[in-house]
Amino acid sequence: MPTGLDDLPIRDDLRGLRPYGAPQLDVAVRLNTNENSYPVPEPVVDAIGKAVAAELRDLNRYPDRDAVALRADLADYLGHGLTTANLWAANGSNEVQQQLLQAFGGPGRVALGFTPAYSMHPLLALGTGTGWVAGRRDAEFGLTADDAVAQVREHRPDLVFLCSPNNPTGTALDPAVVDAVLAAAPGMVIVDEAYAEFARPGTPTALALLPGHPRLVVTRTMSKAFGFAGGRLGYLAAHPAVVDAVQLVRLPYHLSALTQAAARAALAHRDVLLGTVAAIKQQRDRIVAELTGRGITVAASDANFVLFSVAGFAPGGDQRAVWQALLAHGVLVRDVGLPGWLRVTAGTPAETDAFLTALEAVRHVTAPSRKVGQ
Ligand SMILES: *Cc1c(COP(=O)(O)O)cnc(C)c1O
Repeated sequence: MPTGLDDLPIRDDLRGLRPYGAPQLDVAVRLNTNENSYPVPEPVVDAIGKAVAAELRDLNRYPDRDAVALRADLADYLGHGLTTANLWAANGSNEVQQQLLQAFGGPGRVALGFTPAYSMHPLLALGTGTGWVAGRRDAEFGLTADDAVAQVREHRPDLVFLCSPNNPTGTALDPAVVDAVLAAAPGMVIVDEAYAEFARPGTPTALALLPGHPRLVVTRTMSKAFGFAGGRLGYLAAHPAVVDAVQLVRLPYHLSALTQAAARAALAHRDVLLGTVAAIKQQRDRIVAELTGRGITVAASDANFVLFSVAGFAPGGDQRAVWQALLAHGVLVRDVGLPGWLRVTAGTPAETDAFLTALEAVRHVTAPSRKVGQ
């Protein structure tokens, strides 16, 4: 009788793996998964409640398979002349990207990303049997058009993943990089814009590049700026032919009637929901300013998080020890596996206070006394 995973005839490439996911710990200050710290405002709670309730009697029927009304609302939100035919939605942008890999990747095909970037991209590649090439960035996490194009030419990937603003570094890509990659890539180019709403003024979106680029896909999500992570709604904008392609691999009724109704109600109240974005950007800029003022190196951020260096911290600038010490002070941040760096989400002013206080304590308390001259 099987007693564990290893006893089952699981795929060879999954053998020995552990499920991915940030620790979900019951801590007072949770700044580890870039959620929006503000709860859904009461008027929006009411509107979503009514919209969901209106669906309940008809739950004996399958939902609109094509989610047409929701896609029309998403097109309206994005603007840029996009229509329902350009939009596709799924349970989070993770599912959207999985569908893109199912349609354009798969066994014998390869996807390229520029590390460090979103850790789900290689995992989605793995799950769909798509080969993964971990491309490089420079020492400051930058990516120039020339460097990106050289890596695309070297690997000739079927899909390229770009992430702008990039997670975990926070920086938006120079649009020249997207342009150059589009020109050089033989296959699909996916620009993950999960944090677009937090970008600093003047940061362009790849949506503007969609006309004339049928191999470009821009993915977005309601998980971050909209504060709708629990609602699970992500989407893409692309040429209508791309939407046709993902419909070949999507499950027939992947998006529940409840999800569609809730997301539409949330979109109808987008001014209220997105009302927290300005306050969150203030906290992001405050974290950057405070940390820089304390001599801590940070990566410039267009997102709702900040990647900061613990190089000057003791013991030995080990981010795992600093992560643990912050947790002991009731603040959960993210160890993204980058030696010497941690990522913190920008939340409420009180959460920033707690983070900064904990950081000061940790910086000094964890420093071992050094003996000079030995
Ligand atoms: C958080 C995040 C997402 C969101 O995924 P959902 O499935 O929409 O919740 C997508 N891309 C990046 C880079 C992210 O950080």
